[in-house]
Amino acid sequence: MSGSQLPVERFDANARDALGDPVLRGALRRATDLFGERRRAAIDDVGADDFEALRDHARAIKDATLAHLDVHLERFVAQAEARGAKVHWARTGDEACELLAGLCAGAGAKTVVKSKSMTTEEIELGAALEAHGLRSIETDLGEWIIQQAGEVPSHIIVPAIHKTKAQIAALFADKLGTDPEADEKALTAAARDVLRREFAAAEVGISGVNFAVAETGSILILENEGNARFTTSLPKVHIAVMGIEKVVPRFEDLAVFLKLLPRSGTGQHLTSYQSILTGPKQDPSADGPEELHIVVLDNGRSRFLDQAVTRASLACIRCGACLNACPVYQQVGGHAYGSVYPGPIGAVITPQLVGVGKASQLPYASSLCGACREVCPVRIDIPALLLHLRQEVTEGHEPSGSPFGAQRRPAKRGERLGFRLWSFGVRGRLRYEWGSALARFGQRLVVRGGYVGKVGALLSRLAPPLGAWTGTRDLRGLAPRSFRARWRQELRHQELRRQGLTPSGGER
Ligand code: SF4
Repeated sequence: MSGSQLPVERFDANARDALGDPVLRGALRRATDLFGERRRAAIDDVGADDFEALRDHARAIKDATLAHLDVHLERFVAQAEARGAKVHWARTGDEACELLAGLCAGAGAKTVVKSKSMTTEEIELGAALEAHGLRSIETDLGEWIIQQAGEVPSHIIVPAIHKTKAQIAALFADKLGTDPEADEKALTAAARDVLRREFAAAEVGISGVNFAVAETGSILILENEGNARFTTSLPKVHIAVMGIEKVVPRFEDLAVFLKLLPRSGTGQHLTSYQSILTGPKQDPSADGPEELHIVVLDNGRSRFLDQAVTRASLACIRCGACLNACPVYQQVGGHAYGSVYPGPIGAVITPQLVGVGKASQLPYASSLCGACREVCPVRIDIPALLLHLRQEVTEGHEPSGSPFGAQRRPAKRGERLGFRLWSFGVRGRLRYEWGSALARFGQRLVVRGGYVGKVGALLSRLAPPLGAWTGTRDLRGLAPRSFRARWRQELRHQELRRQGLTPSGGER
């Protein structure tokens, strides 16, 4: 499967292609199973009851913060600036990219090292910096592999989850001249050699932010490889990019999220590194950047705040657990979603970011089994959000405040008519019984006439909504007799038995 960003409008076709790739499906199955097992073990360690209490606590913090997000953001900015950081606001991804390119130019940068950040992926910062003549080097191993392969990430915490070890060894052999049979240790060492040189050459480091603390103006960056620590401490200038939803009120709130995020995402008790930056370094002999810039990005997030149902998606801490648990993601992987945010939370966020009209297939990329809701550490009711977005799709609406109103597409008239007829039929007992009897009569004609195969084939070719249903599912026949008819017959038979008579069978 191609790793470049696939069109978000074509999820169904992208998914079909992915389903035909057994190597991809094998890699996904192994990785998501492993993360699922590790997550369960890490939760057992805390105790299930304590973990549930932590989830409640985390969600309460998020809800309280989102209810007064402006206040907490202003406090964060004031505290960060008081400690010497320079804070910049960006309304859109383009605005943020221009701002970042300007800051890099101001620092005289030719090479920029980046640590893993979904927010910078969202605004396509790497490509924007390259367009400004800068070398932008990903330093997270997974991201670096993806960059070398000319692909995009397929998971929010494991960007190269779709790649097998053999594919990575072949890529390294091609790009770095390593042994095609090299093991994981040798491959990691080869990447480290290259990346150490890039760290030494870079004038600017760019990172994302996991949490921003309003009380102290600090930012927290979590990682496992030490590359974010290098990114924030070796170059003289550091720029951190954060979405507006990353702020938490108090420093002590971090303790709650630090217990939840690694356990939910990778099944770790704690990530290997936690870097907290509170302003640039004050002591010249200390580690850390001489200049710290923080770019606070909206890029559509403030629209999510309008309604309680969509506001919930801003509680996401990007742990990736819902991707690992999702039976759809496990089969098709991340590229099929055509977005940097794949999986269940991607199916919620992407339509809100790019427009419900454009990403109209994503809210349907779910069986609504609820596995995502079960594992989400901040208890986001993703199935409810998907149903809300399906309603927006069916009614041809964009969420309120959305700039995508011009992309409104006509509502599916056939589907609406079908549901109106269905609603009319099932709201009256007689109508329902007559309708069912008519359908059974038609079914009998089809069966007796030996037309089952032909009618099934015809239905599978029908225009939506029938074709969409029968294209991927068997069309189940109606039961030969309705429940009400069987119930009435059973009552009659009981009555006959009470009178000492034998029901004249045949029909039972
Ligand atoms: S929705 Fe929940 S489970 Fe999914 S990435 Fe966000 S926090 Fe994690």
